[in-house]
Amino acid sequence: MAILIDGKQLAKDLRLQIKEEAAKLPRRPGLAVILVGEDPASQVYVRNKEKDCVQCGFSGQTYRMDDCGEEELLALIERLNNDPLTDGILVQLPLPAGINERRVLEAIHPDKDVDAFHPENVGRMIVGEPHLWPCTPGGIMEMFRAHDISLTGKVCVMVGRSNIVGKPMGLLMLRENATVIFCHSKTENLAEMTRQADVLVVAAGKQNLITADMVKEGAVVIDVAMNRDPATGNFTGDVVFEEVEKKASHITPVPGGVGPMTRAILMKNVLSAAKHNMGIQ
Ligand code: NAP
Repeated sequence: MAILIDGKQLAKDLRLQIKEEAAKLPRRPGLAVILVGEDPASQVYVRNKEKDCVQCGFSGQTYRMDDCGEEELLALIERLNNDPLTDGILVQLPLPAGINERRVLEAIHPDKDVDAFHPENVGRMIVGEPHLWPCTPGGIMEMFRAHDISLTGKVCVMVGRSNIVGKPMGLLMLRENATVIFCHSKTENLAEMTRQADVLVVAAGKQNLITADMVKEGAVVIDVAMNRDPATGNFTGDVVFEEVEKKASHITPVPGGVGPMTRAILMKNVLSAAKHNMGIQ
């Protein structure tokens, strides 16, 4: 039976470390979260970020913009870019139709871009000098470290190639000397690819995509997905957990796996941005 990688506990430990480090700074790190519109899932995510800020001893400010256009949003970002007490800026996605997401994300100053979506931060990661980490991939790398899982020489298969999960995750594994295979919706014979994986990271958003016969004995299996089970309404991943846990060496649950670590890395990025803003190494 696989070892369960408990993201909830690891995230709690990480938040404690962040809080201790933040307490030594001359002032509290500040995160500004901008929420446009009334998407119910986004409201939950923003409330969670507010809670995380409190737990880490940060000052969190949420800007709820029910009805706002692109220019107004850009003006707010510009104001926050110039505010010395705002260390990190996060625009909750998705944005309502009619607002150019790329233009908005690129307006955030790269030093305050705690989601690490700005092309400058993506570029830094590609050349191997990240200052702020892409949150979900960064959280998974912390899980590997916490469980002494070395990637050197391992075959790592990444299912999914999105800009926020698949691509940066594959690059971070490459940086740790893994041999990385990217799979996506056009991959022929997915099972043939996934069976080669010493480490299998799945972020397709397709419930029950990965069954036990697609997993090598002893593989590390990381399930990033957050699907709503149509039968129960509960969150569920892409991996058929009950059968894959019998074959894997390590596995993440959904919920309680990658999600909490994503949130914790966001807080770590706010701390890093604050230190940078205060001129502290
Ligand atoms: P996305 O932008 O929709 O990307 C999904 C990727 O999966 C695409 O690259 C797609 O291929 C690929 N794919 C879809 N069906 C496939 C199949 N049958 N076989 C192989 N590949 C397939 O999604 P995302 O933003 O990366 O998110 C992925 C999942 O992770 C979602 O469930 C999301 O909710 C979850 N998520 C969780 C966290 C967390 O913190 N836990 C954070 C972010 C996302 P193409 O490129 O060819 O279309």
